[in-house]
Amino acid sequence: MKYTLNVAHLYGNLLNTYGDIGNLLALKYYAKQMDTELKIKVVSLGDTFKAADFDLVFFGGGQDYEQLIVSKDIPSKKAELTKYINDGGPVLAICGGYQLLGHYYVGAQGEKIPGIGALDHYTLSQDHNRFIGDITIKNPQTNEEYHGFENHNGMTFLGKGEKPLGVVESGHGNNGQDQTEGVIYKNVYGSYFHGPILTRNGNLAKRLLITALQQKYPDADLSSQQALKIAPTF
Ligand code: GLN
Repeated sequence: MKYTLNVAHLYGNLLNTYGDIGNLLALKYYAKQMDTELKIKVVSLGDTFKAADFDLVFFGGGQDYEQLIVSKDIPSKKAELTKYINDGGPVLAICGGYQLLGHYYVGAQGEKIPGIGALDHYTLSQDHNRFIGDITIKNPQTNEEYHGFENHNGMTFLGKGEKPLGVVESGHGNNGQDQTEGVIYKNVYGSYFHGPILTRNGNLAKRLLITALQQKYPDADLSSQQALKIAPTF
Protein backbone atom coordinates (compact mmCIF):
# COMPACT_ATOMS: atom_id res chain seq x y z
CA MET A 1 0.00 0.00 0.00
CA LYS A 2 1.09 3.53 -0.71
CA TYR A 3 0.86 5.02 2.77
CA THR A 4 1.65 3.77 6.27
CA LEU A 5 0.34 5.09 9.56
CA ASN A 6 1.80 4.10 12.91
CA VAL A 7 -0.94 3.70 15.48
CA ALA A 8 -0.45 3.52 19.25
CA HIS A 9 -3.08 1.47 21.05
CA LEU A 10 -2.62 2.88 24.54
CA TYR A 11 -2.93 0.22 27.25
CA GLY A 12 -4.68 -2.00 24.71
CA ASN A 13 -4.11 -5.06 26.93
CA LEU A 14 -5.90 -3.41 29.89
CA LEU A 15 -8.49 -0.97 28.61
CA ASN A 16 -10.31 -3.21 26.17
CA THR A 17 -13.45 -4.22 28.01
CA TYR A 18 -16.19 -2.76 25.88
CA GLY A 19 -15.38 -4.03 22.40
CA ASP A 20 -13.33 -0.96 21.56
CA ILE A 21 -10.98 -3.15 19.54
CA GLY A 22 -13.71 -2.75 16.91
CA ASN A 23 -12.54 0.83 16.49
CA LEU A 24 -9.18 -0.44 15.27
CA LEU A 25 -10.89 -2.89 12.92
CA ALA A 26 -12.94 -0.02 11.51
CA LEU A 27 -9.83 2.14 11.10
CA LYS A 28 -8.12 -0.72 9.25
CA TYR A 29 -11.16 -1.19 7.02
CA TYR A 30 -11.26 2.46 5.96
CA ALA A 31 -7.47 2.77 5.82
CA LYS A 32 -7.36 -0.04 3.24
CA GLN A 33 -9.76 1.91 1.07
CA MET A 34 -7.35 4.84 1.42
CA ASP A 35 -4.41 2.76 0.19
CA THR A 36 -3.01 2.96 3.72
CA GLU A 37 -1.51 0.30 5.92
CA LEU A 38 -1.95 0.65 9.68
CA LYS A 39 0.87 -0.57 11.90
CA ILE A 40 -0.71 -0.94 15.31
CA LYS A 41 1.38 -1.23 18.47
CA VAL A 42 0.08 -1.71 21.98
CA VAL A 43 1.85 0.77 24.28
CA SER A 44 1.25 -0.35 27.85
CA LEU A 45 2.72 -0.57 31.35
CA GLY A 46 6.44 0.14 31.40
CA ASP A 47 6.60 0.97 27.67
CA THR A 48 7.92 4.26 26.37
CA PHE A 49 5.58 6.48 24.37
CA LYS A 50 7.37 8.89 22.04
CA ALA A 51 5.22 11.46 20.26
CA ALA A 52 7.38 11.31 17.13
CA ASP A 53 6.85 7.55 16.73
CA PHE A 54 3.09 7.70 16.12
CA ASP A 55 0.65 9.19 13.62
CA LEU A 56 -2.55 8.19 15.40
CA VAL A 57 -3.42 7.23 18.98
CA PHE A 58 -6.30 5.10 20.22
CA PHE A 59 -7.13 4.91 23.93
CA GLY A 60 -10.04 2.63 24.91
CA GLY A 61 -12.20 2.18 27.98
CA GLY A 62 -12.32 -0.18 30.91
CA GLN A 63 -13.38 -0.79 34.46
CA ASP A 64 -12.23 1.32 37.39
CA TYR A 65 -9.80 -1.44 38.46
CA GLU A 66 -7.84 -1.30 35.20
CA GLN A 67 -8.09 2.48 35.10
CA LEU A 68 -6.41 2.66 38.50
CA ILE A 69 -3.53 0.49 37.26
CA VAL A 70 -3.17 2.64 34.15
CA SER A 71 -3.29 5.86 36.19
CA LYS A 72 -0.14 4.75 38.05
CA ASP A 73 1.81 4.21 34.83
CA ILE A 74 0.53 7.04 32.68
CA PRO A 75 2.51 9.81 34.46
CA SER A 76 5.59 8.31 32.75
CA LYS A 77 3.98 9.05 29.38
CA LYS A 78 2.35 12.36 30.32
CA ALA A 79 4.96 14.72 28.86
CA GLU A 80 5.13 13.02 25.45
CA LEU A 81 1.38 12.43 25.25
CA THR A 82 0.72 16.06 26.07
CA LYS A 83 3.24 17.12 23.44
CA TYR A 84 1.62 14.81 20.87
CA ILE A 85 -1.81 16.32 21.65
CA ASN A 86 -0.62 19.92 21.68
CA ASP A 87 1.14 19.42 18.36
CA GLY A 88 -2.20 18.40 16.85
CA GLY A 89 -1.75 14.64 16.76
CA PRO A 90 -5.02 12.78 16.10
CA VAL A 91 -6.42 10.81 19.05
CA LEU A 92 -9.55 8.79 19.64
CA ALA A 93 -10.22 8.27 23.35
CA ILE A 94 -13.19 6.29 24.57
CA CYS A 95 -14.74 6.34 28.01
CA GLY A 96 -11.98 5.36 30.50
CA GLY A 97 -9.32 6.66 28.08
CA TYR A 98 -11.25 9.88 27.58
CA GLN A 99 -11.51 10.31 31.37
CA LEU A 100 -7.75 9.75 31.85
CA LEU A 101 -6.83 12.50 29.38
CA GLY A 102 -8.52 14.97 31.74
CA HIS A 103 -7.57 16.03 35.27
CA TYR A 104 -9.09 13.21 37.29
CA TYR A 105 -11.80 10.62 37.55
CA VAL A 106 -13.66 9.76 40.76
CA GLY A 107 -14.41 6.04 40.67
CA ALA A 108 -17.57 4.33 41.83
CA GLN A 109 -16.01 3.67 45.30
CA GLY A 110 -15.13 7.35 45.68
CA GLU A 111 -11.44 6.83 44.81
CA LYS A 112 -9.86 9.76 42.97
CA ILE A 113 -7.98 8.46 39.93
CA PRO A 114 -5.62 11.06 38.47
CA GLY A 115 -5.48 11.69 34.72
CA ILE A 116 -2.76 13.50 32.78
CA GLY A 117 -4.60 16.83 32.54
CA ALA A 118 -3.70 17.28 28.87
CA LEU A 119 -7.35 18.25 28.40
CA ASP A 120 -9.23 20.43 30.87
CA HIS A 121 -12.18 18.16 31.78
CA TYR A 122 -12.75 16.31 35.03
CA THR A 123 -15.03 13.41 35.91
CA LEU A 124 -17.14 12.87 39.02
CA SER A 125 -18.92 9.75 40.18
CA GLN A 126 -22.66 9.29 40.47
CA ASP A 127 -24.13 7.46 43.43
CA HIS A 128 -25.38 3.94 42.66
CA ASN A 129 -26.14 4.71 39.06
CA ARG A 130 -24.68 4.21 35.62
CA PHE A 131 -25.64 5.78 32.33
CA ILE A 132 -26.43 2.78 30.17
CA GLY A 133 -28.24 2.65 26.86
CA ASP A 134 -28.43 3.80 23.27
CA ILE A 135 -27.43 7.36 22.56
CA THR A 136 -27.69 9.75 19.61
CA ILE A 137 -25.92 13.09 19.35
CA LYS A 138 -25.54 15.76 16.71
CA ASN A 139 -22.52 17.92 16.07
CA PRO A 140 -23.72 21.50 15.49
CA GLN A 141 -20.73 22.44 13.26
CA THR A 142 -20.85 19.51 10.83
CA ASN A 143 -24.50 18.55 11.33
CA GLU A 144 -23.28 14.96 11.57
CA GLU A 145 -25.32 12.66 13.75
CA TYR A 146 -23.50 9.95 15.73
CA HIS A 147 -25.08 6.78 17.10
CA GLY A 148 -23.76 4.57 19.88
CA PHE A 149 -24.19 2.84 23.19
CA GLU A 150 -23.04 4.31 26.49
CA ASN A 151 -22.15 2.54 29.74
CA HIS A 152 -20.45 4.68 32.37
CA ASN A 153 -20.63 5.75 35.96
CA GLY A 154 -18.50 8.86 35.41
CA MET A 155 -19.98 12.31 34.85
CA THR A 156 -17.58 14.42 32.81
CA PHE A 157 -17.57 18.21 32.75
CA LEU A 158 -15.75 19.97 29.93
CA GLY A 159 -13.26 22.78 30.52
CA LYS A 160 -11.19 25.38 28.71
CA GLY A 161 -10.87 25.03 24.95
CA GLU A 162 -13.04 21.94 24.83
CA LYS A 163 -16.08 21.56 22.61
CA PRO A 164 -18.48 18.65 22.84
CA LEU A 165 -18.39 16.00 20.13
CA GLY A 166 -22.12 16.54 19.93
CA VAL A 167 -25.31 17.70 21.57
CA VAL A 168 -27.37 14.90 23.10
CA GLU A 169 -30.55 14.12 21.19
CA SER A 170 -31.35 10.99 23.17
CA GLY A 171 -29.41 9.34 25.99
CA HIS A 172 -27.26 10.86 28.75
CA GLY A 173 -23.90 11.99 27.36
CA ASN A 174 -21.06 13.46 29.41
CA ASN A 175 -22.97 14.06 32.62
CA GLY A 176 -26.73 13.81 32.08
CA GLN A 177 -27.06 17.52 32.81
CA ASP A 178 -25.72 19.84 30.14
CA GLN A 179 -26.64 17.93 26.95
CA THR A 180 -23.00 17.60 25.91
CA GLU A 181 -21.41 14.33 24.80
CA GLY A 182 -17.72 13.70 24.31
CA VAL A 183 -15.09 16.23 23.45
CA ILE A 184 -13.20 17.78 20.58
CA TYR A 185 -9.92 19.46 21.49
CA LYS A 186 -7.45 20.16 18.68
CA ASN A 187 -7.43 16.76 16.91
CA VAL A 188 -8.49 14.79 19.97
CA TYR A 189 -11.90 13.15 19.82
CA GLY A 190 -13.20 11.79 23.11
CA SER A 191 -16.48 10.03 23.67
CA TYR A 192 -18.47 7.73 25.91
CA PHE A 193 -19.72 5.82 22.87
CA HIS A 194 -19.17 2.15 22.62
CA GLY A 195 -20.71 0.33 19.79
CA PRO A 196 -17.83 0.73 18.86
CA ILE A 197 -18.11 4.34 17.77
CA LEU A 198 -16.18 4.04 14.49
CA THR A 199 -18.04 1.00 13.16
CA ARG A 200 -21.28 2.94 13.37
CA ASN A 201 -19.94 6.38 12.51
CA GLY A 202 -17.62 5.98 9.55
CA ASN A 203 -17.20 9.72 9.05
CA LEU A 204 -15.30 9.98 12.27
CA ALA A 205 -12.96 7.15 11.24
CA LYS A 206 -12.39 8.88 7.93
CA ARG A 207 -11.66 12.21 9.62
CA LEU A 208 -9.08 10.67 11.95
CA LEU A 209 -7.32 8.91 9.07
CA ILE A 210 -7.33 11.94 6.76
CA THR A 211 -5.93 14.13 9.54
CA ALA A 212 -3.15 11.62 10.20
CA LEU A 213 -2.36 11.25 6.47
CA GLN A 214 -2.27 15.02 5.89
CA GLN A 215 0.15 15.47 8.77
CA LYS A 216 2.45 12.65 7.72
CA TYR A 217 2.32 13.28 3.97
CA PRO A 218 1.82 17.05 3.61
CA ASP A 219 2.81 17.04 -0.08
CA ALA A 220 0.71 14.04 -1.16
CA ASP A 221 -2.40 14.35 -3.31
CA LEU A 222 -5.00 12.91 -0.97
CA SER A 223 -8.05 13.97 -3.01
CA SER A 224 -9.16 10.38 -3.71
CA GLN A 225 -8.84 9.57 -0.01
CA GLN A 226 -10.87 12.65 0.87
CA ALA A 227 -13.51 11.81 -1.70
CA LEU A 228 -14.04 8.36 -0.22
CA LYS A 229 -17.71 7.79 0.39
CA ILE A 230 -18.49 6.48 3.83
CA ALA A 231 -21.51 4.25 4.25
CA PRO A 232 -24.26 6.17 6.02
CA THR A 233 -24.72 5.56 9.73
CA PHE A 234 -27.37 3.10 10.78
N1 GLN B 1 -14.98 2.98 34.64
C1 GLN B 1 -15.43 4.16 33.95
C2 GLN B 1 -16.87 4.55 34.28
O1 GLN B 1 -17.64 3.72 34.70
C3 GLN B 1 -15.26 3.99 32.46
C4 GLN B 1 -16.19 2.97 31.91
C5 GLN B 1 -15.94 2.71 30.47
O2 GLN B 1 -14.81 2.80 29.99
N2 GLN B 1 -17.00 2.32 29.81
O3 GLN B 1 -17.23 5.72 34.12
